This record gives sequence, structure tokens and C-alpha cells, in this order.
Amino acid sequence: MPLTMDTLVSLSKRRGFVFQSSEIYGGTGSVWDYGPLGVELKQNIKRLWWRDFVQMRPDMVGIDAAILMHPNVWRASGHVEQFTDPMVDCRECQHRFRADHVDARPWLHFCPATKGNKFEIAAGEACPRCGARRTLCPDCGKGELTTARNFNLMFKTFMGPVEDDAAVTYLRPETAQAMFVNFENVLQSMRLKLPFGIAQAGRSFRNEITPGNFIFRTREFEQMEIEYFVNPHETVEGRPADEYWHDRWIADCMAWFRRYGLSEGNLRLREHEKDELAHYAKRTLDIEYRFPIGWSELMGIANRTDYDLKQHAKFSGKTLTYFDEERKEHVVPYVIEPAAGVDRALLAFLAEAYQEEEVRGEKRVVLRFHPELAPVKVAVLPLLKKREEIVKTAHGIRSELARHWRVVYDDTAAIGRLYRRQDEVGTPYCVTVDVQTVGDSEKGEQGDQRVTIRDRDSMQQVRVPMRELVPVFQELLTGGDWAAVAGRFGTAAAAAAG
Ligand SMILES: [Zn+2]
Ligand SMILES: [Zn+2]
Repeated sequence: MPLTMDTLVSLSKRRGFVFQSSEIYGGTGSVWDYGPLGVELKQNIKRLWWRDFVQMRPDMVGIDAAILMHPNVWRASGHVEQFTDPMVDCRECQHRFRADHVDARPWLHFCPATKGNKFEIAAGEACPRCGARRTLCPDCGKGELTTARNFNLMFKTFMGPVEDDAAVTYLRPETAQAMFVNFENVLQSMRLKLPFGIAQAGRSFRNEITPGNFIFRTREFEQMEIEYFVNPHETVEGRPADEYWHDRWIADCMAWFRRYGLSEGNLRLREHEKDELAHYAKRTLDIEYRFPIGWSELMGIANRTDYDLKQHAKFSGKTLTYFDEERKEHVVPYVIEPAAGVDRALLAFLAEAYQEEEVRGEKRVVLRFHPELAPVKVAVLPLLKKREEIVKTAHGIRSELARHWRVVYDDTAAIGRLYRRQDEVGTPYCVTVDVQTVGDSEKGEQGDQRVTIRDRDSMQQVRVPMRELVPVFQELLTGGDWAAVAGRFGTAAAAAAG
């Protein structure tokens, strides 16, 4: 059965990944809160992105800019003028529609040919009884629609104590502009040479008219953006530097998503047609993912030329150039912009990880997260919670491992149930402490000081000396092979139902 968004929404709520914002007050429109497991997953995504694209690369640096910026930033960027949708309102029910979408909705019709009975008529079709076409509001079928007016998608607010026009500012609709505005500061303070990039992860806000599809399109969201500056006069491997680096970033971003689990068949590139390109963009590609709602944009990678730096130079009156030592000239760098949404990436990883399978006649739900993404890395489970020695040992293991990873202790059900719970949230490994581990002091029996590690994906178990747990998990959680570890210690006969 194909995975539906409803399945992910309900799992997310049940297991603490994502909650509707302000749910006890009836919720806020298309705003979501990340719960205890969601925040771990989200932080892992951002941490890996930062590690792979900033920390590991000699040509990248990061910033963390304020959400509130000078209002002229948004004049220079074009957002004040152009970041708008044409909207119409119903004079009766006050519902608001995008003018260019209104005809694509089914419409409510009180048909005069049937004494005003109410019908819903499919989008774009005429009433089969009276032949009328939609002229009124599609939602209530009664109100006239206003003429289209442009509605800006930025959240407006006021800076300072006076709520007048001079104090208007905006919650940023994207993180990118902070990299352009700080271009000179970063260049000078870090003594950078082209090509180099500036990265930032942070919140952005868009007052979307038609948000929806869970965390796919929301009014408050998080972005991971890179502005990669190149010298347009240089060539790399016989090609203009901007074109070369654009292709490199496309390949690197695709490889990144595959590395953390998105499968080849669920990823594709989509080249923007000439007529959908922003006027300043030389070329733009989207990486699309096959979400439960169908193929949709996961991230975009644009060649924005020198447009942004030139705009900010014009509006600020400052010089935003780079001195090319070799050619002895000032140049305005071109910029390649790989822009990803954290929430969308999380949704893609969640959808990809979700699997239902049958194990010994029972349904098992398992999230096959890459170990570096998994919100919880290890669960420590006592086989018998009435044996003090077992419980004490299990708590000790949890606190030792917790110095390195997110680790949980759970003794609130029988072992088979505990395993299933961890499968359902994608915990790659469980550690079980049993009688053999601790022995029986009353009978004078020594424990073997070994515990069972159980692998989420294969459900195999190995018995490992307790003192080796940290190095073993260091290996397993950074891409180490389960089969290699199992080979070294020997798989244990399943003591308890896996
Ligand atoms: Zn209406
Ligand atoms: Zn009719």
C-alpha cells in the first residue's frame, strides 16, 4: 500500500515527532511544533548538513544572522515589490483565494433549475442542469468576488514602540539576503579568496495563502542556505566558473540526500524552463523528491549571477566587490545558491524511512533512518525490571553511553513490546541487560558482564562485553557494518522474541 501523509501525521503525533501548534486552542493554521523526537531528528539533519557542507570544506564559512533586518534589504531584494500573489476576496463569506487558482476549485452552486438546491460542481465545469458557469465565490456560492489585489507574502511587524509606517519591518522570508548583506564583513574578517561560500541555517516566514500538506509548506519554516561566490572571469576545466560550480553543487547536494538514505528512484532533477526562471537567474534546477503527495521540490539550486550583490550595492551605496589579484581588477562575484528546507528534508527522510513489514505474523512498523539521523541512537532495556542488579546495570549503561549519544532507558513493557516501540521511532540499536549479564549473587553466580545488542534492521542479536559498548557503537553509528561486528562477537541465539 502506498504511504499516505495521514500515516506520517498520525505516527508523528503518536510518537512525539511533530505536533500541531497550539493544539489545545484548536491549532494555528499550518504551523507545527517539533516534539521530543522531532527536535532530535531536525537537529541531526542540520548538524550533518553543517558538518558536510561547512565544517569539512576549506572554502565554506557560516553565519547566524538576525531574523529582523533593515527594511531596505527587502526593497533591494525585490520582496517588497514582487513577493506577492494576486488575491480576490468573497464579499459574503470573506474567504480569500489566489486569483489564478480560483477557477481550479470545485464550486458550490444553488441551481435555479431545481428551485435553488445546493450542488457541488467540479472545477471548470458548467452546471449540468442549468448550464451556468461559476461567477460567484466557490466556497459559499453566494458572494461576489472582489477584483484581484496584490497581497505581499511577508509578515509585517513594527520595530520599536511606535506603530507607524516608518517603523514597519518584516520577518525575513528567506535566509539568503543576510549572506549578501554580510558579504563584505565576511570577506574582510576571514580573508577569503574566491570561490568561497557562506552558509546559514535558520527560520524564515511566509504568509502563504495556500499552505498545507503537513510540514511541506508552512508559514514558519527553517532553511539551510548557501551562497557560493565565484569569479565570473575564471574558467574551470575549460568552462565558465559559475557553470562549473553550479553543476558541482547539484551533484554534491544530490549525493548528500542519497548518502543519508533517500533512494535513487525517489529523487530527480528538474530544470526550470526559461519562462519560469527569475529574470536575473541564469539557470535553476530543483531536486525533487517523490513525497506521499507526489513529486515535489525538495531544494533548489540557482545560478543568481551578480544580481544580488549589485542590488545591495545600489540600495546601500556601498561597494560590494572582490579584488582579483591576478587580473588586478574589481569584480562582482556570481553566486550559486543551494537552498534547502529543513522541514521538507525531514519529511522526505521520514517518508523514505517508513516501512511496514510482517514479522512472525505480526505487523512491524519500522523507521529505517540512517544511524546518523536517528533521533535516538540506543535504547537500554532491562529484561527483568524486578531484579535490582539488572535495572542498576542498565541505568549505568545508559548514563555511560549518554555522554556520546542520545540514549534512552525503558522498562515500561515486556521486551518484545519495547523492541517494537524503538523500531517505530527508528532507534538503530537496543541493548538488553539480562540475568546472564549480572549473575545471581545469592547463588554465588558471577555474571558474564556481557549484554545483547539488537540490530533494528536485521533484528539479529550479538552478545558484547559491556566495556566494549562505546567503541562498538562508535563503529556502528558512523557507518560501520553490522555484519562485521556480528562476525567478531558471534550472533546470539535470540534470547527474547526479536
Ligand atoms: Zn463566499
Ligand atoms: Zn444549475
